[in-house]
Amino acid sequence: MIEPILTIVVPCFNEAETLPETIRQLDQLVAEMIKENLVAVSSKILFVDDGSKDKTWPIIYKSSLQNDRVKGLKLARNSGHQNALLAGLFTAKEGSDCVISIDADLQDDINVIPVFIQKFVEGNEIVYGVRDKRDTDTLFKKTTAQAFYKLMKYMGVNLIYNHADFRLMSKRAIQELERFDEVNMFLRGIVPLIGFKADTVYYDRKERMAGETKYPLKKMLAFAFDGITSFSVTPIRFVLLLGLASFLVSMLVGGYFLALKFSGNTTTGWTSLIISIWLIGGLQLIAIGLIGEYIGKIYKESKRRPKFIIDIDSYSFPMPLHRKN
Ligand code: UDP
Ligand code: MG
Repeated sequence: MIEPILTIVVPCFNEAETLPETIRQLDQLVAEMIKENLVAVSSKILFVDDGSKDKTWPIIYKSSLQNDRVKGLKLARNSGHQNALLAGLFTAKEGSDCVISIDADLQDDINVIPVFIQKFVEGNEIVYGVRDKRDTDTLFKKTTAQAFYKLMKYMGVNLIYNHADFRLMSKRAIQELERFDEVNMFLRGIVPLIGFKADTVYYDRKERMAGETKYPLKKMLAFAFDGITSFSVTPIRFVLLLGLASFLVSMLVGGYFLALKFSGNTTTGWTSLIISIWLIGGLQLIAIGLIGEYIGKIYKESKRRPKFIIDIDSYSFPMPLHRKN
């Protein structure tokens, strides 16, 4: 059997604190896998610098000079986790049979990577890493994450439960991924849509090695909201139902007041009037806001902006530390 060429893709945003250790551990792992004839000698690790402000790029650059297995990709500016991942996947697929994506903080257990490869060799085009436990996550992160999966399922989006972006994809799967031309690429929702033979591998998620999470609450909420609105029209249907319901209620209330008026018992209905004005106004605002969200999406999609822009690419040697001019 011929061993597959593997590239491990690692998106990095201000990860200078974790990177040296991450590079060391991943390099050691790949070296071992090569020795055990699990992967080909030309297997690589590709670090994507997502417009970091710290020493991330110099660290990647230096280690790529010292180690032929280490490659680097520098995005021209911060484009976000998902886009950095895409930049890495699309670049890495050229010279690889399969690509594994993993976060730079090594919260995901790299020791299951050989199992990924095994599953790939057995004929799976996609292998999902799924967190077994979430012991190291805060209660808050656990509950919000769970609520997110439940909500997505309710909205009819097929997500792999507790799977983040630790996964293996075959070259063929990435080629298909490239045909998804949308700008809002919510990978966790899109990858299952490819539909190739897939399997899952379970692992324990650890604590972040060093540095801080790059997903504070604000970004997490934005991510969840993006995920929902890119994949589901349930919210807009919900608004429609809400509108119908409130219409029905106002008809009933209106009928009641008319009846009162004609029976001569006219009450000065200032309170009910003002409440309904506010209520309907509020509902309308929610509806307009939600519709705006979708129109915003259409607007963004219609512009067809590039998802990422590569500044420096270590596949085109010699690789400069800074882009001249
Ligand atoms: N990341 C990135 N660009 C961003 C934000 C994050 O490339 O704009 C990377 C980050 O360096 C890390 C991965 O995405 O490798 C996941 O981020 P993090 O570990 O902070 O998220 P968490 O595990 O806390 O959800
Ligand atoms: Mg993390």
